[in-house]
Amino acid sequence: MDIILLGPPGAGKGTQAARLETSRGMVQLSTGDMLRAAVKAGSPVGLQAKAVMDAGELVSDAIVSALIGERLDQLGDSGAIFDGYPRTAAQADALDLLLEHRGRSLTHVIELVVDEDALVERIVGRFTCGNCGAGYHDRFKPPVVAEVCDVCGASAFKRRPDDNEDTVRTRMIEYRAKTAPILPLYEARGLVSRVDGMAEMDVVSAAIEAILAR
Ligand code: AMP
Repeated sequence: MDIILLGPPGAGKGTQAARLETSRGMVQLSTGDMLRAAVKAGSPVGLQAKAVMDAGELVSDAIVSALIGERLDQLGDSGAIFDGYPRTAAQADALDLLLEHRGRSLTHVIELVVDEDALVERIVGRFTCGNCGAGYHDRFKPPVVAEVCDVCGASAFKRRPDDNEDTVRTRMIEYRAKTAPILPLYEARGLVSRVDGMAEMDVVSAAIEAILAR
């Protein structure tokens, strides 16, 4: 099973992908995570991507498709969850080829349908534990003890530099202009299912599981 989770920034793709890793042993392939790792490592890709990411714009199709190709080669028999990729029609075409060359194909495209205004609040308030990566939110999910991670007890938290209101607005515009238009392509192939991304996390997970079980 190879699936795409599609939806604007903050729709919950990363959260749901992590849950599918646990429940189904699938592997999350997040180009955003790969690019952030490249920036942190100071690799040539990271150096090229940093300013673009900080502005909320899209990194080049060639770079992200190459990253996905490398990761697909390490995947073996596990199913892939594409999170934040593809984001343009050119990436969607590249993904078809990358999968075809490896004898794989898309089985589901799941769109997380969300209210964009609520997303800005979701994104601007989110942060993670710098040690274990557990996710939190200023308003919706603060740590039980202020400034102490519920999971590992560390007290160093981090926020993504692109999770500020201006950059989020640009990321939304990019999503509407370049990513949303790829949905009809997948719809024509009968791959798309929709889930209410504004529901509670557990409800969203159950809806996704039901789609995959069909
Ligand atoms: P994300 O973590 O998916 O929100 O991605 C963070 C940022 O990384 C985006 O705002 C883009 O600048 C860049 N990025 C991630 N995935 C892609 C992609 N598939 N195509 C182009 N840029 C991407």
